[in-house]
Formats: sequence, structure tokens, C-alpha cells
Amino acid sequence: MKIAMIASEVTPFAKTGGLADVLGTLSVALQRLGHELCVIAPAYRCVLRGGFRLEETALELTVPVSDRQTPGSVLRASIGMGISVYFIRADAYFDRDELYGTAQGDYPDNAERFTFFSRAALELLRRQPVDVIHCHDWQAALAVIFLKTQADDYPELAAAKTVFTIHNLGFQGIFNQVHWPLLNLDAAYFTPQFLEFFSSINLLKGALIFADKITTVSPSYAEEIMTAEQGFGLDGVLRKRAADLVGILNGVDYSIWNPSTDPFLAHHYNEESLTGKRDCKTELRQAAGLPDVSATPVLGMITRLTQQKGIDLVEAIFAALMERNVQLALLGNGEPRFENFFRAAAARYPDRVAVRIGFDESLAHRIEAGADLFLMPSLYEPCGLNQMFSLKYGTIPIVRAVGGLKDTVQDYDAQAQTGTGFVVQTHTAQALLDAVDRGLAAFNEKKTWHALRRRAMSMDFSWERSARVYSGLYQQLAN
Ligand code: ADP
Repeated sequence: MKIAMIASEVTPFAKTGGLADVLGTLSVALQRLGHELCVIAPAYRCVLRGGFRLEETALELTVPVSDRQTPGSVLRASIGMGISVYFIRADAYFDRDELYGTAQGDYPDNAERFTFFSRAALELLRRQPVDVIHCHDWQAALAVIFLKTQADDYPELAAAKTVFTIHNLGFQGIFNQVHWPLLNLDAAYFTPQFLEFFSSINLLKGALIFADKITTVSPSYAEEIMTAEQGFGLDGVLRKRAADLVGILNGVDYSIWNPSTDPFLAHHYNEESLTGKRDCKTELRQAAGLPDVSATPVLGMITRLTQQKGIDLVEAIFAALMERNVQLALLGNGEPRFENFFRAAAARYPDRVAVRIGFDESLAHRIEAGADLFLMPSLYEPCGLNQMFSLKYGTIPIVRAVGGLKDTVQDYDAQAQTGTGFVVQTHTAQALLDAVDRGLAAFNEKKTWHALRRRAMSMDFSWERSARVYSGLYQQLAN
């Protein structure tokens, strides 16, 4: 089948989180199953100046944004076996330092930027129609909405089916109603049955109403978002679409995240031979300025520093952690209050805590390899990738029992000698600390620790399985 992915991020070109990884790897895995793929994303500054091989195409697009006809052009790169990645270029919108905003807040014209992007993506697809248009997150929600509410404008795509994937329900694309004219939609759609959401415009909501199928990134998260606690105000809309909502676990790209081949690592290892992991730990400590004491476990974290990731709980148990025999290696960026907290923590405990504020692909790999335990106590987690990377790297995850964390990490049972990590049932500091203590205790039981590590490393969350489920869904739509 011919499938077009529309999304605001795709690795290796533009990434702020897991969405980009999914786009890059799912597309390639679907191609391997025999589908014909293309990806459409914005031509951000990081794309234009990232040193990628970009071809100019002859495609010139002009799309309506409010009452203006707005021009754009199209660049092309490729991933996998010649999958076209089309970048919609409009420098006034996308040639900026960041994707969505700065530390001062979101770009004020985000509604306009992604209205333009969604229109332009459909305009491109009119010229080369596909069977399935698969849109991701609020930035591409309007493509579904325009297609379904203004079908007459897109006759070439009349037969195309739409799939919409929620990567994180916490981000919905909510805009003040003054932006409504940008969309050129009938006023009838600015009502609570459609895009209106407490007097604002909610783009994600529109896509949930109009998409033929809705997916999200783990089976547990699909259940959770239909509840009032985790539905972010859209649980009612989602419950109405329950028959068309499916949770499909994200996979891992093991060609990138594999400790036996990882090019970011100076030493390699696998389930049978873990010497390389010990060397990676030594190297991580050297780089991070932590003393190399073999009896001390290293707790790793790679994360956006936001409340969603449970960072407030880590802050709450930090003093208790410093009373234990453990070192912390943290890489992350996000809310200034958390960045400041960890900067101060590293300054206060220089031989216990190493902190890098920023985004650093190479260090992310070296922490995964060099740490013993990985901390990921998310408040909610649609799927989560780092816990799956951690399993493969033999870095035992300590996770909260939510969403994809629950679906991928099985709690350690010392008696039965089963499980692959430490699972926290409730979102409290005490429960988290208890799990950390269980992890530290297990680390000291060398024989069972090795077995636990081997079990973790043998887990397989490759994309192939997930791609088959998506493929089945597309097939179902086509029939
Ligand atoms: P989310 O998409 O919610 O941020 P995921 O676990 O699904 O969380 O994906 C996060 C991705 O981003 C992973 O590939 C992770 O390694 C990477 N990542 C997050 N923060 C950083 C950082 N500061 N530096 C490098 N990589 C990071």
C-alpha cells in the first residue's frame, strides 16, 4: 500500500523526543514489509543546516492560510531504502532556532505555522495520492480535519483513509479562538461537538473526531486515556471512539540502540560477555568526574525535565538518595526549576552526582551503557523509549506502573527469580524510594543480579512486530 506519514519530527533530521524516533524507524520497518512510504515534515533550521543531503524538488505549493495564499517549496531527503522524506519549506515559519518555541514559551504563531504545514502536506499529496494518510500528534491534526471537512478541495485524496496517532495526549494544540480564521473552516466546526474545547480551538480533538482510526503508543496508555484521570479532558471523546482506538507499542531501532555495535561506545558487550559494560561504566565515570568505586552502583537518567517524567519525585527523594551508596548520572533539559535543582545538586555533591543540562545523543548512549540502574518514574508515559533501551543495555529500569512502562518492564521477584526491573505502583516519593532500595539491594546480590541483567537484555521490542500491527490496521481500513 501507499502510505504517507505526516509529522512534525523525524530522526535523524529533527527531534525533540520519541515522536521523531517513531517516524524514522516505523517508516523503514513498514517499507521492509513491502509498503511504499513517504514522510512529510517541516524544513526547520536544523534540517536546512544539519549537513543532510537535501534535494530541491520542482514542487511549488501555494496554500490558503486565512485569506492569504501562502507559498512554500519542497525539499527531499531519503531514509531506509529510498523512502522520500519531503520537507515543506517556508523559511518565515520554520527557519528558526527551535521547533516549537524557546524557554520563554511557545512561538506565538504556532497555530499559523502548523495550519500552513498541514495544508501544504495535503497539497503535496494531491499531486501524488496515497492509500493511507497517517498523521501524528497535534501538529499534523489539521491534515485529517481538512481532508474530512473539506473533501471537495482534495478530490485526488477522496479514497485515502486516515490514521491518527497520539504520541502524548498532554500536548493537544490548544489555541485561542482568535486564530480560528487561519483554518478557513466553516463556523459550524467551532462548536463543542467538533474543535471547540472550553472556548478554545483544540486541534487534537478534531483529529480524534475525524480520523478513520486512532492509535496510541502502548496498549495500557490506550486504556488510560479513556479515563478521567488521564484523559486530559478528552476521555469522553476517546470513549466514543473506543471501537476505533488501538494501542500499538513503539519499537526500538536495534541498529542504533545495541550495546554490541553502538558506535558511540568505546567498548561493546552482549548478554554473554559483560566486560565491556564494566569498561563503559568506568569511562562514563571518568567523563562525568565521578570516582570509580566498583561497589557503588550508578543510577542513570536521560529525560525531559518536566513533571510528566516524575522529576518532582526524584527531587523529593534526592536527600535520601544521597544517604545511600549510589552515584547519579543525569542528562536532561526542561523546566528551569528542575534544571537549577540538578545543577545545584551536582555542585553540592561533585563526587556523587554528575549532571549535564542539554540534549546530547552521544552521552545518552554512554549513560545507557555505563549505568547500572535507570530511573524513569513518570507520572504518565505513553510508551517511553529509554526503559526499552535500558533493558537492552542491561541497565535495570526502575519505572512507574503506567502506560508503556507497565507494558514493557516486569517487576523483579527475588523469590521466583523473574522480572526485568523494578516497578513502582503508586506515584509517591516513598514508593519510589522503596523501589530504588529494592534495586540497590538486588545490585549487591551479584549472582541474581547477573541473571536479572541477562533477562533484561534478552527482551525484544523490535519494530518489526509493531510494524506488522500497523500494517494489519492499514489493511483493515483498505478493505
Ligand atoms: P518523550 O518522547 O516523552 O520525551 P521517550 O522516552 O519516548 O520520551 O523518548 C525520549 C527520546 O529522547 C529518547 O530517545 C531519549 O534518549 C531522548 N532524550 C531525551 N532527553 C534527552 C537528552 N537530554 N539528550 C539526549 N537524548 C534525550
